[in-house]
Amino acid sequence: MKIVRRIADLPFPDSRTLGFVPTMGALHEGHLSLMRKARKECDQVIASVFVNPTQFGPNEDFSKYPRQEERDFALCEGVGVDTVFAPTVDEMYPESLTSVHVSGLTDRWEGAIRPGHFDGVATIVAKLFHIVRPTIAYFGWKDLQQCVVLRAMVNDLNMPVQLSFCETVREPDGLAMSSRNAYLSPEGRSAAVCLPNALRGCVEQLQTGMDRRQIDTILETGRTSFQDLGIDVDYFELVQIQNLEPSVTVSRDDRMIGAIRIGQTRLIDNMGLSH
Ligand code: AMP
Repeated sequence: MKIVRRIADLPFPDSRTLGFVPTMGALHEGHLSLMRKARKECDQVIASVFVNPTQFGPNEDFSKYPRQEERDFALCEGVGVDTVFAPTVDEMYPESLTSVHVSGLTDRWEGAIRPGHFDGVATIVAKLFHIVRPTIAYFGWKDLQQCVVLRAMVNDLNMPVQLSFCETVREPDGLAMSSRNAYLSPEGRSAAVCLPNALRGCVEQLQTGMDRRQIDTILETGRTSFQDLGIDVDYFELVQIQNLEPSVTVSRDDRMIGAIRIGQTRLIDNMGLSH
């Protein structure tokens, strides 16, 4: 496996299919599931490990985000990645006068709580697509809004890449795997399972065709479960998958989304109604 630090040292695109998995490192089974899928579907696989400063707010965890490159490289090698692209911040942002903004879809949910976050995400992913020139790029549904935003960017800007969105990999108790789970104290880790539990609780009660009043009653049970545990909720909603607007009536494709805070740690998760 090749480890590449400089854009100029990346393999030149050829006629083979190229699968690409962008990550911020501190890899776990969620990331590895994307790499395994890329390995299965493509001739060549590139993963990137880059903690992208432009998607972190000034008071967020950029400086303390877990960095464990050597371990990450070994994990990539273990699942058959051909090349890891792990550039420095200077290599990726010698200048940064230009950014990509996807409007509308980025106003709500994560975008409302983390202003500028999705500009950082869209910009780095657009840059990586131009640098790597993948046939297929793999992302996790775990970051639902990110998937929807990137799909809009690729369509709107006619980027010649296919997007593949992959199911969320969970811990045995149901908590979605995330690099940020490492921040949780043992008590926080035990409490964190309330997020997938509340999402699943609502998913099990929601039936296609229910109206907004019925939806609200069900969402309230979920919100109350957080309140009982003294956990702060940023949002807990049923949304339409196309535009992430709250559902007015329940449709099959709708997804429950939620974000909570346990101490200093923010956790996000979502579930489809068929789960
Ligand atoms: P990150 O390193 O957090 O930027 O994540 C890199 C990619 O892995 C993104 O496309 C994420 O959506 C995806 N990902 C993160 N956690 C999971 C998970 N638990 N299951 C599946 N994919 C995930």
